[in-house]
Amino acid sequence: MEAQVDVVIMGAGIGGSSAAIQLAEKGHHVLLLDRQEFPRHKTCGEFMSPETKEMLKFIGVDPLQLGIKPATMNRARIVLQNGKEMEARLPGQALGISRYDLDLMLHAKAQESGVDIKTKVMITNIEQLEDQSYVIETKQGQSLVTYRAKAVIGAYGIRKPRGIHSAQETEQTALKNAEVFVGIKSHYTGIQAEDEVELYFCDGGYVGISPVGNGVVNIAALLSLDSVQRSGKSVKDILSGAAFTNSRLSHRLAEGVAVEGTQVSISPVRLSEVPEPWSFFPHIGDAMLMIPPLCGDGMSIALRSSMICSAVTDQYLHGKLTYLEWESHYTMNAKREFTDLLHRAKIVQKVAFSKANRVLPLMGRMFPMLPSYLVKSTRLSEMGVSKS
Ligand SMILES: Cc1cc2nc3c(=O)[nH]c(=O)nc-3n(C[C@H](O)[C@H](O)[C@H](O)COP(=O)(O)OP(=O)(O)OC[C@H]3O[C@@H](n4cnc5c(N)ncnc54)[C@H](O)[C@@H]3O)c2cc1C
Repeated sequence: MEAQVDVVIMGAGIGGSSAAIQLAEKGHHVLLLDRQEFPRHKTCGEFMSPETKEMLKFIGVDPLQLGIKPATMNRARIVLQNGKEMEARLPGQALGISRYDLDLMLHAKAQESGVDIKTKVMITNIEQLEDQSYVIETKQGQSLVTYRAKAVIGAYGIRKPRGIHSAQETEQTALKNAEVFVGIKSHYTGIQAEDEVELYFCDGGYVGISPVGNGVVNIAALLSLDSVQRSGKSVKDILSGAAFTNSRLSHRLAEGVAVEGTQVSISPVRLSEVPEPWSFFPHIGDAMLMIPPLCGDGMSIALRSSMICSAVTDQYLHGKLTYLEWESHYTMNAKREFTDLLHRAKIVQKVAFSKANRVLPLMGRMFPMLPSYLVKSTRLSEMGVSKS
């Protein structure tokens, strides 16, 4: 027999957990599913912008109050392959915090809010019935478990579960145009980090170094599949291959030692052409929009989209919106919020990867506000949220 819930959220990362907390606090029965076991390391630069901090606080998760001591960052340093560099003051103080801790804090808050969390769950199929409710089939160990829900939210990051497609036309365009990247991350000790995020350009992409507290730094990279195939399979090999094309990065890596067990990777990563808020049901976070990590903070997009989606989903579950209104309201609000942001991020990404990037340090000296402007232009605006 199938278990009945109000809403099933697929993916218990930052976006899914946040949506789950908000809907559970509105009184809905929420089931949050993830195929992984937590805590787990996640491919992420773990650079938390001021907007992300603000939104986490809004949903009741404040790492500082929970005894975590994140690192702080006030500047960005960009180092080109020729060794030239550009420095920018960040528009506000950012935090460096491990996703291992952050996602666990989100789960604790979700459980406190009454969310039913199930991990190590494989979603095998989703169907929609005539009354527009959903049937979700899962595999949990050796058992097949089926749920029925009035609403479903896709928060499974960049890899859609088998059988779930984005709108066909968009998907074909994206596949044709998009370059394929590989994302990697590892924690290191022994690398002394200032209160800044460092970005090193190298063949096929970039590598970021940022402190995450307790003397640990996060090293994360987004590199083209081509360049990775030339360097080897392990995260360490891939980082060495990247460092081979930026000598300052190479010196920096030589100072440290990788922390065993923290290496993770994700592939294929395709940057979005357009936001895709709806396909069969609403999507949030990376499942809705994969922004170039250099040019935008994915965690804040995941949180902001979870807020927009939870508000309309709550109205749908209370019968204040029809199914079609649920779809159109979320689609319109998400596109309004994220389309321009993605557009600006893609321009910055293009400039950063073009041959013109060699003149960026010079331009930065001629127009001292330019680096800060570029950083700011790819961030969401301040929210000024208050809980009603
Ligand atoms: C190299 C790199 C560096 C980055 N650096 C930063 C940064 O410094 N700052 C920043 O803000 N953002 C950064 N990002 C982006 C950021 O990590 C993401 O935008 C953010 O994690 C998106 O959150 P999410 O909840 O949508 O997805 P995720 O956090 O990826 O969570 C998705 C969850 O869904 C689960 N899942 C997947 N498939 C299924 C399935 N079929 N069934 C059930 N569960 C499933 C996964 O196990 C995962 O737990 C970076 C990304 C990359 C690739």
